[in-house]
Amino acid sequence: MDYSYIKNNVTAVRATVDLAAKRAHRNAQEIRVVAVTKSVSEDVLPALLAEDVVDVAENRWQVARDKLSHPLADQFHWHFIGSLQLNKVKYIVPRFEWIHAVDREELYQALSSEATRLERTLQVLLQVNVAEEPQKHGFRLDDVTAAAKRLQGLPGISLRGLMTMAPMLGPESNVDVARDVFRTLCRLQGELRHTLSLETFDQLSMGMSDDYPIAIEEGATLVRVGRNLVGKQTTPEGDGL
Ligand SMILES: *Cc1c(COP(=O)(O)O)cnc(C)c1O
Repeated sequence: MDYSYIKNNVTAVRATVDLAAKRAHRNAQEIRVVAVTKSVSEDVLPALLAEDVVDVAENRWQVARDKLSHPLADQFHWHFIGSLQLNKVKYIVPRFEWIHAVDREELYQALSSEATRLERTLQVLLQVNVAEEPQKHGFRLDDVTAAAKRLQGLPGISLRGLMTMAPMLGPESNVDVARDVFRTLCRLQGELRHTLSLETFDQLSMGMSDDYPIAIEEGATLVRVGRNLVGKQTTPEGDGL
C-alpha cells in the first residue's frame, strides 16, 4: 500500500485549519488535529509520523489493538473516541492518553479506578448529546453540570472538557445546524470551566471531516479528522470548505 497521498492530505487539512482559525481570529497553535485511523491499517502510522501528525484516534479496541503493537506506536498520543464498555476499560487505560467520549458517570468512575491502580493520569472529555439525537451517546445538556461537579476531583483523571458530534451534514443540509451545536457546546464549556473553577477544563473535541472548519470557527481545540486525512480520495484542492 502506497501512503504517499497522506502528505497531500495533511497539507490540505492544515491549510484548512489555518484558514478557519484566521476567520475566527484564533491562534491555530491551540488546535490539535487528531487523525482518526479506524478505517485504515497500522501501515499508515509511519506516513503520519513523517508529517508530524502525532495524535491518532481509534473508536474500537479490537481495531486499535493491532496498531498499538506497531513499533512506532509509542511515538503517538493515542485518543479513544468511541463509546466504551466497562469490560474494555482495562485494555484502554494503559494505552490511551485521551478519552473523548465518556457518556456516563459509571464509566468515568471505572476509568478513574483503573488509572489510579496503574498510577496514570487520563485526559478525559465528557460527551454531550447536544442535539438530543436518540441514536447518539452522551450526557444531556441539562445533566452535564451536575455530573461534572460530582466527578471532578476523582483520582487518575484530569477532566479536560467536552466532546460532541454534530448531526450528519447531508449534501443539501444547512451548516447552521452543526454551527448551533458547536456554539452551544462552547458556551457550556466556558460556563463549566468557571463553575468548576478548573483552568484546565479548556478542551473542546468537535468537528469531523465534513464539519471541522465550522467547529474551529466555534472554538474546537481537538478536531477528529478521518476520511480527509487518511482516505485516499482527498486532494489538496478537494477539501471543500
Ligand atoms: C469516525 C469518527 C470520526 C472521523 O470521521 P470522518 O468523517 O472520517 O472524519 C470522528 N469522530 C468519531 C467519534 C468517529 O467515530
